[in-house]
Amino acid sequence: MSNPAPAGATPVAPPPAESLVQQIRDEILARPRFLITSHARPDGDSIGSQLAMAYALDALGKQSRIVNADRAPDHYYDFPGMERIEIAAEVPADADADTVIVMECGDLSRTGVRGFEGRFIINIDHHVGNRMYGAVNWFDVSAAACSEMVFDVIRALGVPLSFEIATHIYLAILTDTGSFHHSNITPRTFDICRQATEAGVNPAAMARRIFDSNSFGKLKLIGALLDKMQLLDNGRLAVLYLDDAMLEACGCTNNDTEGLINLPLTAREIYAVVFFKVTPDGMVRVSMRSKYDVDVRIVANAFGGGGHKNAAGFTVNGPLDQVRDAILDQVKTAVAEGVLERPAQT
Ligand code: AMP
Ligand code: MN
Repeated sequence: MSNPAPAGATPVAPPPAESLVQQIRDEILARPRFLITSHARPDGDSIGSQLAMAYALDALGKQSRIVNADRAPDHYYDFPGMERIEIAAEVPADADADTVIVMECGDLSRTGVRGFEGRFIINIDHHVGNRMYGAVNWFDVSAAACSEMVFDVIRALGVPLSFEIATHIYLAILTDTGSFHHSNITPRTFDICRQATEAGVNPAAMARRIFDSNSFGKLKLIGALLDKMQLLDNGRLAVLYLDDAMLEACGCTNNDTEGLINLPLTAREIYAVVFFKVTPDGMVRVSMRSKYDVDVRIVANAFGGGGHKNAAGFTVNGPLDQVRDAILDQVKTAVAEGVLERPAQT
């Protein structure tokens, strides 16, 4: 990357990622107080990216506060630093930081928190279609998790990879790759995981804490969901339905729903899953997952949402009966187009 251009050749501009990381490093070093945030209904990547960044800022003697719209699912509370996350719909009045580090958000409204506007925003994201709402915008759609990018920033800052930072970087990668299932996993992903492991992370213990921490209620919910699962499109498309009554019947809350959408994908024939969650206010939350080149992000975009090729989502006004078929038709089209790309050896 640092090879000089041959004599007489047109000078090559520095790689944008490298210069952006340096710009982010310089802004962080120059500023004293930070707010850190990520998207509403946080997942492992949003939690891990935020806490890794917070611990790095600690190491530099900077002040930081983390403000999120929603609480994370319970099993994340086993990990260090979770008590630092403040849950609020608006930036607390006593937060005087002029700098906000926003991670994992294509749009500032994805934070679900009001009051970041007008501050100096550093936008770090790996979702296609980022709206470049920051003063500095770095988005890299090739990153398997946003925490891969955070790792680069932390390295550029010269902060050593402490056990806490390594834990959160690894947590984010483990969850955002769906336990090393999704696309975008590269040698770089494993290189970062290797360094995290050298810093003391125990991959087996991490996997147990994340994936083997279900309540009995959640096991019941898995049964209920799969019992009601519909198969469409010659068995290539699975549809799951959830409402609060089902949650209650199994002794569960919304916090128990993480990962459920991936269950149907374990069947060889199934290429895409649509998960409909009907909320008490009549809204329908739609999550989608897919395999291979089945691109569900295109469907999410058509309904005002976003995400990645293999994991995307959006929310629409119900009732479910009125929106369901239009959504499923588009997913069927995505399956028909993407299924052709299934690699021969799989
Ligand atoms: P989920 O199904 O909620 O786990 O989301 C899957 C992926 O889609 C994640 O990368 C989310 O950030 C993204 N996503 C979900 N809902 C939205 C939305 N309304 N707008 C933009 N991206 C979304
Ligand atoms: Mn992510």
